[in-house]
Amino acid sequence: MIRRRLRVTGIVQGVGFRPFTHRLAHALQLTGWVRNDASGVTIEVQGDESVLDTFAARLRGDAPPSAQLDTLDIESCPPEVGEAGFDILDSDASGAQRATIGPDLCICPACLAELFDPANRRYRYAFINCTDCGPRYTIAARLPYDRAHTSMARFAQCPACLNEYRAPDARRFHAEPNACPVCGPQLSFCVAGDEIEPQPADTSNDPIAATLDCLRHGGIVAIKGLGGFHLACDARNAAAVERLRARKQREEKPFAVMVANLASLTELAEMGATDAAALQENARPIVLLPKREITDVLLPGVAPGLGWLGAMLPYTPLHFLLFHEAAGRPTGTGWLAEAQRLALVMTSANPHGEPLITDNDEALRSLRGIADACLLHDREILIRCDDSVVRPLPDQAAPQFIRRARGYTPRAIPLAATESGHDVLALGGFFKNTLCVTRGDQAFLSQHIGDLDRVANCRALEAAVDHLTGLLQVKPDALAHDLHPDFYSTRLAQQLAERWQIPALGVQHHHAHIAAVLAEHRRDAPVIGLALDGVGLGIDGQPWGGELLRVEGAGCERLGHLRPLALPGGDRAAREPWRMGAAALAQLGRGDEITTRFSQEPGAAAVAQMLRGQPPTTTSMGRWFDAAAGLLGLQPRMSFEGQAAMRLEGLAQAFGPFDLQVPLHKFDTAAGHIQLDLSPALVELSEATDVKQAAALFHAALIYALADWVGTAAESQGIRTVVCAGGCFLNAILARGLRRALQHRGLQMLEAQAAPPGDGGLALGQAWVARRMLQESDRPKAGTP
Ligand SMILES: [Zn+2]
Ligand SMILES: [Zn+2]
Ligand SMILES: [Zn+2]
Repeated sequence: MIRRRLRVTGIVQGVGFRPFTHRLAHALQLTGWVRNDASGVTIEVQGDESVLDTFAARLRGDAPPSAQLDTLDIESCPPEVGEAGFDILDSDASGAQRATIGPDLCICPACLAELFDPANRRYRYAFINCTDCGPRYTIAARLPYDRAHTSMARFAQCPACLNEYRAPDARRFHAEPNACPVCGPQLSFCVAGDEIEPQPADTSNDPIAATLDCLRHGGIVAIKGLGGFHLACDARNAAAVERLRARKQREEKPFAVMVANLASLTELAEMGATDAAALQENARPIVLLPKREITDVLLPGVAPGLGWLGAMLPYTPLHFLLFHEAAGRPTGTGWLAEAQRLALVMTSANPHGEPLITDNDEALRSLRGIADACLLHDREILIRCDDSVVRPLPDQAAPQFIRRARGYTPRAIPLAATESGHDVLALGGFFKNTLCVTRGDQAFLSQHIGDLDRVANCRALEAAVDHLTGLLQVKPDALAHDLHPDFYSTRLAQQLAERWQIPALGVQHHHAHIAAVLAEHRRDAPVIGLALDGVGLGIDGQPWGGELLRVEGAGCERLGHLRPLALPGGDRAAREPWRMGAAALAQLGRGDEITTRFSQEPGAAAVAQMLRGQPPTTTSMGRWFDAAAGLLGLQPRMSFEGQAAMRLEGLAQAFGPFDLQVPLHKFDTAAGHIQLDLSPALVELSEATDVKQAAALFHAALIYALADWVGTAAESQGIRTVVCAGGCFLNAILARGLRRALQHRGLQMLEAQAAPPGDGGLALGQAWVARRMLQESDRPKAGTP
């Protein structure tokens, strides 16, 4: 008879790990106990040595689906004489915090079956959940993950729920958000202007029925979800979509669509096996799917001018109830395999780029004039979390993130174990801000926070700093930030560094982009980095964005860059591609064509004049895309960042593969850097008549040029690994084409997968570089004793 203590870390709280342990111990007839604590779960078991070995093996092998075991340490301890059973002890909150809470999970099949079973006591109950599913991160205030520390604390469980909660072999044993219609949260429906008055679920004034009725009549309903409010409307109703666009002042940004199941999506978009898998992931992200020719006819105005449609499947019981209602309240789950006609626009309710709305009162106040009605509930959202957006990569197993939030945060990204393991807090950039905290050899990237040009988003960043460092109980050794002195993230990093008396380390934008990929791939060897994005401040104080780098830990050398393009009108040039088209003409020595080509632009003459002087310049890849779009007359003005490049991508996709006959680029090594000049491609575009063909030509020429550029640098540096990062790699044609071209040259291309390739992943790279800066300063200098 021997006794062992097992310590488990990872996502092991709130995922049914203790009941699983309990069942396993019973099955193997072992005695002892299990308990949640600050580091995860601790277990003591007693029995035969061989059975204890089996126990440890099955603890890993048979763990619940949403658990994630990072470490399992086993030690011997003295046996307890006369121990009878196996107990689940109360949580122990003392000790150093190593535990992690899990992300929010979509409803599981067992709960879905109960939801549509009229005999079940949770029939049509919008807050049904169990240890395998339901909210986690968005309802948790702090660890350990116990009901008292969540927004469910105010709902006392009824006797029936309490029985389930206490029965070790039940599916709801310690399901912290456990609830039923008798004791749990309630839905309420109100038309705009009404006060909130929760109504009992079984009146004729059913909130789900009322919501569907409003949607069917072309109304816009604000629906409270897991991490915030959505604005919903009937995606097949052109007038409703148009009204939503007008009221949200979103102009042309694409909307995401929710449909009941994969069968309902087939007519709306192209879908391969990897797409289907991504859609059905537990996290239920928005997945970008290639459109069909008929998509824009079936869903008018949902994603105009783009090559893809953002789609997602229902993830909360509430979403499923809307589709169930539309299907006529069928019994059982058979209907979920059949195509359903209802398609809903589900867009984040974040008026004017402000943070996502999470609060009932705030929704009623700030959505006045936008939503016709609200579907509310009284379970508080403690942490704001937008929907995640992913795009499956054709030859890769895991999809790529465009926005990483609900369903993924706060899952850790494992880092390479470093010798020093400094904990760092990185505050990211300006656009699509996220922050990153490291703890030991794990990085925690926050949910998407937003652009820091809004005061409310800056406040949200501050709140996320407090929340994530508090939840993980990390006291950082340093802060990391962008080099741009005016970003709110930079200023906040400096303030916090001052307050906590720790260093604030600036990390160059494109170095951080490359480092983010190195972090998730756990690479330390020197690489060639190709960073292509809209803009980031360079070490020379200039706006960079098309950079060829050699990155080695904390060191970064600029090997080359794109030929600078003039920015006539500064920031306006970054929003008005016609100005970049004009800049390209001037660069081609054809400045006299500007006023005729852009005669419909009142500013054309002034821009032509500006370009005769010495306007500021940038090496940004994004502006080269804008120049291409400007010359083709595609998108004179953009209503959101990257719009012109997305249009070009959509057109190129519609054209199909382009067979490039001759290279359309030049190199110039004058300034000590290898400068890549894409002007020959722009000459072709300036004379093009078929925009689809021209867009395809531009992509082909770009891929060929980049592969040539990178390949030459890789050869001279003796490096075989190329890291590609920056927002431009969200362009699927570019990413796929370049990967093939580099493979052809025998080079390995690494891309972002665990974090977005754009500025949403910047904080991860900043943290990685800062850790290496600290590590290098730890090392004794050569020659010092
Ligand atoms: Zn469940
Ligand atoms: Zn109950
Ligand atoms: Zn960037």
